[in-house]
Amino acid sequence: MSEKSISAIKAPPPPHYVGDGFRVHNFIPGQFDMKRFSPFLMMDYNSKYYFPPSEKPKGVDVHPHRGFETVTIAYKGKVAHHDSFGNSGVIQEGDVQWMTAASGILHKEYHEEEFSRSGGDFQMVQLWVNLPAKDKMSPPKYQAISNDMIKRYISEDNLTEIEVIAGNHKGVDGIAQTFSAVHLFNSKMKAAAEEMFTFPQDFNTSLLVIDGEIMVNNTSKVVRDHFILFENDGETFEIKALKESIVLILSGAPIDEPIAAHGPFVMNTRAEIIQAFDDYHAGKFGTLV
Ligand code: MN
Repeated sequence: MSEKSISAIKAPPPPHYVGDGFRVHNFIPGQFDMKRFSPFLMMDYNSKYYFPPSEKPKGVDVHPHRGFETVTIAYKGKVAHHDSFGNSGVIQEGDVQWMTAASGILHKEYHEEEFSRSGGDFQMVQLWVNLPAKDKMSPPKYQAISNDMIKRYISEDNLTEIEVIAGNHKGVDGIAQTFSAVHLFNSKMKAAAEEMFTFPQDFNTSLLVIDGEIMVNNTSKVVRDHFILFENDGETFEIKALKESIVLILSGAPIDEPIAAHGPFVMNTRAEIIQAFDDYHAGKFGTLV
């Protein structure tokens, strides 16, 4: 096995707001072609940011999704969501919400009321994971993964704890069900912790330093809020924590199908995008106020 070399190290790009509650840096696709990260279509990162108290919760009002999954990982703060099928819930610190929008839902995402009232640090990742063409029109579903449900790998020296959200690491299987091969981990490392990761060469692989400072492949120092994209030229990479760190690791089998994306819809053809708008305007995504 050989090492995956580093293709790019990215500082956080200037933030933009999604609604008025998510102040995000876009790392995926960034300036790359959407296919470069397949099956990951998008990653918005709300780096740790203090939101002052607000009586009116900040967030994103009602909007649709079709053709993919949204994965929300809460590091700080809490998000409340409601959808057009009557589902609602709160994503607490440490939780993951894996929402399969598939054939289509309407939802809204807001700072949870009490968090909003008290204000506080907010830190979140939202990932969009593509669905294979055959699954794009399957029924919507949720996987509400609370932190205590997440399976963990603990290193022998106890310096590394890996939350395996999806996929597997050294025999520990993640609880999230996926439609294609996806590995998604939070690697929580104490200073001097070292860990090796192995994924197939063709899997598109990247990482984001959520907290701390790490050395990758013994060559590249990467600080908080920075992102690495790996080349598809090997199977392994190594992380050494230079201080206590949290690293989000993503790797997935590319879905080799055409992408037609417009706003909240990601399909395979332009005709399917037009159909999505028609269905949305015809009320087929349900209603939500
Ligand atoms: Mn959404």
